[in-house]
Amino acid sequence: MVALPNIPESHLRCLLIQPCFEQTNYWNFVESARAIGAKATAPPLGLMTVAALLPDEWEFRLVDLNVGPLSEDDWKWADVVCTGGMLPQQPGILELIAKAKADEKFVAVGGPDPTSQPQIYEAADAVVMGEGEMTIPMWMDSWRDGNPRGVFESVEKPDVTTTPVPRFELIDFNDYLHVGVQSSRGCPYNCEFCDIIELFGRRPRVKTPDQFIAELQKLYDLGYRGWVDFTDDNFIGNRKLIKPLLVALKKWNEEHNYPFVFSTEASINLADDDELLQLMQDVQFRYVFLGIESPDEETLIHTQKRINTVQPIIERVRKIYAHGISIAAGLIIGFDTDKPGTDGPMIKFIQESGISLSMVGLLSALPNTQLTRRLSKERRLIDSEHNWISEPGAVYELRSTESKDQTISGLNFVTTRDRVEIYRELRSIIEAVYSPEAFMARVMDTTKRMNIQNKHIPNGWEFRRMFKGFRTIAWRMLTDKRTRWLYIKNFIRAAMMGPTKFEYAHTIMGSFLHFDLQTRKILETLDVSIDYAENHAPYPRSIKDAKYQAAIASNSLPIAESCGGCSSVDSESVAHGF
Ligand code: SF4
Repeated sequence: MVALPNIPESHLRCLLIQPCFEQTNYWNFVESARAIGAKATAPPLGLMTVAALLPDEWEFRLVDLNVGPLSEDDWKWADVVCTGGMLPQQPGILELIAKAKADEKFVAVGGPDPTSQPQIYEAADAVVMGEGEMTIPMWMDSWRDGNPRGVFESVEKPDVTTTPVPRFELIDFNDYLHVGVQSSRGCPYNCEFCDIIELFGRRPRVKTPDQFIAELQKLYDLGYRGWVDFTDDNFIGNRKLIKPLLVALKKWNEEHNYPFVFSTEASINLADDDELLQLMQDVQFRYVFLGIESPDEETLIHTQKRINTVQPIIERVRKIYAHGISIAAGLIIGFDTDKPGTDGPMIKFIQESGISLSMVGLLSALPNTQLTRRLSKERRLIDSEHNWISEPGAVYELRSTESKDQTISGLNFVTTRDRVEIYRELRSIIEAVYSPEAFMARVMDTTKRMNIQNKHIPNGWEFRRMFKGFRTIAWRMLTDKRTRWLYIKNFIRAAMMGPTKFEYAHTIMGSFLHFDLQTRKILETLDVSIDYAENHAPYPRSIKDAKYQAAIASNSLPIAESCGGCSSVDSESVAHGF
């Protein structure tokens, strides 16, 4: 092991490593990135922020394994390795820990999965849990006291107004489809399945306008132009504080000739705030990801997502389109209250809403969520080795032994309905909504409704990427006989709507390359899951299964109900709003 200095404020070479995500999943638009000549979707904002929080005396290199392999030169160079990430990156993080231990290098891990399941990462020298603004100083203090090793945890959430500007200079912009920034953390709502509120809390914390503009200015000064994604948990979680930030952004945009277009993730009540929508349109927001989850009101109430029931979802979706903002949506099946034949209403909703980028997946009980705690009490959890955990209250670990793309993993619990029925419904939804005909119809529906007021003029670098993307999309659409005529038809119709709508329609049509590839993989995997559940699974196929009923009958533990209720806390947060 390299001898560490007694105080961390010494010259050290720190290698920041972003482990791989699955190369193929619905959430990783790797095909879209490749179409424009990039290698990955987004750079590791967390690691760039960590670099800014670590001592100024440290020297950094950042290696993103989604972009390229780890070189021997970078590895040998490092005194300290910092890595971490989310559940799908768990195998990669564990591999890096093992490699570091074998080569006697000091390794520290952090990020959402080490925070939710620190016990899995106990081989690391330091497990820096939670938000780095709190726990990196704790790690440094302990180091100064002579112990750089340990688990560093804080129950307190940091004040993000002191978060430094991420070290964007550590990445090569050419490698990515877009870059990320963050203006807030946390979400006021209380969805039962959500781990964000466990990790970042329900009191959204927002950066100051000046602080946030300094981040954009740094990107601008480094020469970046184009797509910037706000990686906030819920961009409108604190509307009172986000509006002044948007006002400042509007002014900065005007002064800098609109160098960026933006995307983010938000709750659907964005559609209920005209002022906010107008501001987002003015500053050139182009995409928003909405957690729609289900078109079924009973299910939304059951999963404590009442904000989605306040107004009809399709009306809200169309209002967002009318402000020039396109929608990607998360939809889930496998809730306790889903009814037989959930696929029909889900397909109808997706087509009527025109949401081209609909990520439909299976419900997953993530560690440390209200859902997992309830399912544990109800003795319904299933571990990564397919073992049914029939002991209530047992510590639950989710080992990422295979893909944790939510579309094809999930259902890690005994379902209320026969799980084979759920798999078949997901299969039917995916086949229907990602058929070329259905996808292309949604593209045109949205293109007609979108009211884009474009103020961003791409620079030469962006034009070259766009041209490359255009060529790749056109070539692949025209050489595939399933898409050829649909593409030509949409191409002509969109071209007649003007250049801005044409560019939008062509970009969204291009994302079909990504969805088509993933769909084929997901359908194959679902067939394997169906076969396994029908013929091999050791756990009950549903709560009606005799095995589950016998276990429940053996004592008086709570039995799964077909419908839960919303917590009063949720109602409170909706009533008060932010
Ligand atoms: S709206 Fe629900 S799912 Fe989305 S971040 Fe908030 S609590 Fe989580």
